[in-house]
Amino acid sequence: MRKPVIAGNWKMHVRAQEATELVRQLRAACETDAVEVVVCPPSTSLATAHEALRGSSIGLGAQNVHWEPQGAFTGEISAPMLVEAGCRYVIIGHSERRQHFGETDATVRKRLGAALTHHLTPIVCIGETLAEREANQTWAVLERQLGAVFTDCAGWDCGGLILAYEPVWAIGTGRNATPEQAQDAHQFIRQWVAKRCGAAAAHVIRLLYGGSVSAGNAAGLLQQPDVDGALVGGASLKADAFTAIVRAAADTTAVKT
Ligand code: PEP
Repeated sequence: MRKPVIAGNWKMHVRAQEATELVRQLRAACETDAVEVVVCPPSTSLATAHEALRGSSIGLGAQNVHWEPQGAFTGEISAPMLVEAGCRYVIIGHSERRQHFGETDATVRKRLGAALTHHLTPIVCIGETLAEREANQTWAVLERQLGAVFTDCAGWDCGGLILAYEPVWAIGTGRNATPEQAQDAHQFIRQWVAKRCGAAAAHVIRLLYGGSVSAGNAAGLLQQPDVDGALVGGASLKADAFTAIVRAAADTTAVKT
């Protein structure tokens, strides 16, 4: 049984003072052994969130990481810096980074290498655009992105990665993939991982769905056999909505065992 992960991507929202309050509300409502709960604030709120999370089972993550440990890379942040800030997770290759900031499969792979070297659990995002889905290229896009992620992966604990399937057309649009669409994609990804990394890694790797997950649609998505959690954007900014998603994940553990 894979422990579900519910990760909140706060994007460029939640300033430091607000982070303290949001974390306080989440601590009161979402601490559970049944689910790995993670929040990913913007960089300037990491320290405050870390302080507010002291002693909590809720993990802290960042939204990006550079591949070098230090250097002349204005605006970037390194893995040792994230570790120092209290992070245990990092989102890599989010479609907003790919779309707006020129992130490529190659830079995603380099960032992933840095995360693994510094023992940050990577949450690597993959997923197709609407045009790619409509052109029946979904599987080809996922294969290409997965191929890049798992380049030179000998020696990795592949099962320790977290992959987030985030169809770009579902992110921030209010239009989520149906549970069946999510399950089809996750099954495809798990089978791909099995071929590349072996059945044992494929059995334990957690595959999150992301794209307009809400309190209303979470249960249907999370009940799918290959959906092991969610990467949540908009709904992670409201404690009640995020808590409802965490509870939906906890409920599925009973069904899936
Ligand atoms: C995300 O940012 O990864 C995301 C899935 O956003 P939203 O839930 O708002 O679609």
